[in-house]
Amino acid sequence: MSFLLPCPNCGPRDVNEFAYQGEVTKRPTQSPTLRELSSYLYFRENVAGVQREWWYHRLGCQAWFQAERDTRTNEVLATELTEPVSAEGAPGPEATPALGENPTL
Ligand SMILES: [Zn+2]
Repeated sequence: MSFLLPCPNCGPRDVNEFAYQGEVTKRPTQSPTLRELSSYLYFRENVAGVQREWWYHRLGCQAWFQAERDTRTNEVLATELTEPVSAEGAPGPEATPALGENPTL
């Protein structure tokens, strides 16, 4: 199955240019229980509907971004570049501006 996925940098492209990297998950707390850690590593929501996912534009700009996609129809509702997140959940010092983004504006 093929559909168009709009890269935030390159615009709409065939989905075969991208690598699907799974649904966006929430990291457990700093000292997770074994159950919390196991759930984070092995379980997914696998919703039939709109879910937020990680995508990688492997044959294009090589950007990592998140997309909201309806898993029933493959309709992509939104895509956006995201900044690296530190362990505390706030953007860390390693955060860099996204491609094409001018930090002085
Ligand atoms: Zn791209």
